[in-house]
This record gives sequence, structure tokens and C-alpha cells, in this order.
Amino acid sequence: MHFCLSCATDHAQADWVCPHCGFTPEVRSGFRCFSPTLADQGGSFDVASFEGLAKAEDSSFWFPPRNRLITWALGHYFPQASSFLELGCGTGYVLSGVKRAFPQMTVTGADIYVEGLERARRRLPDTELIQVDGLALPYRSHFDVAGAFDVVEHIDDDVGALEQMKLAVKPGGGVMVVVPQHKFLWSRIDDLAAHRRRYSRAMLERAATAAGLEVVRIMSFAAWTLPLQMVSRMVSKPKGDTLAEALELHMPAMLQRFLEAVLDIEQATIRAGVNYPFGASLLLIAKRPEAK
Ligand SMILES: [Zn+2]
Repeated sequence: MHFCLSCATDHAQADWVCPHCGFTPEVRSGFRCFSPTLADQGGSFDVASFEGLAKAEDSSFWFPPRNRLITWALGHYFPQASSFLELGCGTGYVLSGVKRAFPQMTVTGADIYVEGLERARRRLPDTELIQVDGLALPYRSHFDVAGAFDVVEHIDDDVGALEQMKLAVKPGGGVMVVVPQHKFLWSRIDDLAAHRRRYSRAMLERAATAAGLEVVRIMSFAAWTLPLQMVSRMVSKPKGDTLAEALELHMPAMLQRFLEAVLDIEQATIRAGVNYPFGASLLLIAKRPEAK
């Protein structure tokens, strides 16, 4: 169901006009904006970074394997899913990967930034993309699965965001979250990306439970590349004053492809059930409890 943020009632109007109070979301650049004030003020992310981010997504060792892990987990843990919401879809890199892996799935992208949605529209021309506040989603019991990938670490009230994702999926539906792991890995990239925190496994589990989710599995990934990342952070500090510059990884293409291959081999072990105690990131698989 759609959820009217003005009068707090559910409705099923495809045009989003609330039948109870008449509320109609504002449209900007073709996107329905459910929190236009926030779109103006912006959140913590530097929108100039979308350009650098889009480049990094295509060329770095990090983003393609992360997509493969996400699409594997979606198919493995939620094989019946036919609808998917991504909160914080940014440039649409993950969402377009999900659509490629599951062409029959109805996918929806939501982001605070209209600038991000404009980039996402190039990758996903026929997809519903909406501007939202992650703490006030206009859906109730609507999707089979909702995901947020490297997003909730930007939000002060991470439990609130997880709770909104829980409410947006149907009872028994899934929630998938990727966050950066280990406080000791905090670097200038975390500062530039305006991260509020890096997580421990226990922190992520506590946040999910506090949001009313049932944890299915929490897995560390990018464990094998961690020693290399630590060395590389010691010997070469990221250059530039913006995330866009820092993300243009000054790593030779051959090294990028090598690290990508290492992550792919590691993923084969994760799929086989290996649980690593460390890794640059955590992937949470959780469920909204069935209605009692
Ligand atoms: Zn209403």
C-alpha cells in the first residue's frame, strides 16, 4: 500500500493522490518528491560526488563484486520476491544490477537527492524513482524486499531508517543492508563521505533488533582484501578534498582486476556458508516478522 505522509493513512492510488486528505506529492524533474524540504537542504552527502561515484562504480574493484553478493543474497534468501525497494539508490548502480539479475522483478528506487535520481534514471529509464526522507517512507506492507547499501551509516537515526524499511515490506518480507565494518578502519574516506559510524556485528544486530527485525544472517565480506586495504591506506593517503577525488582510486587497472577476482573467490566461500569474523563490510539479511 501507499502511505500518506500527510494524514498517515494507507491508500492504493497509483497516482499517489491521497483519497482521504487530497495530499499530492510535488513533482520535480519528473520525480515525485515526498520530502522536498530535505531535497533542498540536502543530507550529509556531497552531491558533487555523484559524478566521481558513477565513474568509480564502473571501474573500481569494489562495486561489481558487491553487486554480485547482493543479487546472490536476494535470490538465495528471498527466492519468491517479485518486488524490491532500494533506499538510497543514488546513481542506480545496485538497482540496475538487481533488474539485470531478476528481469521479472518490479524495482523501485528512493533517494533523498534529486541529483542522484537523475543519474539513476539514465540507468533505469522505466523504473519508479522517488525522492524521500529515509525516516518517512510513503509505503506500508508494499514490497517483498527492501535494501539499503552503504546508506544507514550516513543516517543519525539508523534504527528509524531500518524500521521504515521494515514497515515498507510485507509481513514476512525481507530487509537487506550493507554497512562499513570496524571502527579501526575509519579513514579520510569515511570523513569525506560523512559517515556517522562504522559498525561492529553486534552494533548492526542491535540496531536491526531494535527496529523490530528478525536477523537471518550477518556476514562479513571483503575479508581477504582487508590486509591489502590496510597496507594501501598506510602507504597512500587518498588525495583530494572531496569524496569524488578520493574515490578516483589511484590504483592501476591490473590491481583493480586482481582485487575483484580475489573478492569473487571469497564470495564463493561465503555462498558455501563460511562466516568471516572480519571484513571491510557487513551484509545483514533480516525479516519483518509475520503478522500475529
Ligand atoms: Zn492523506
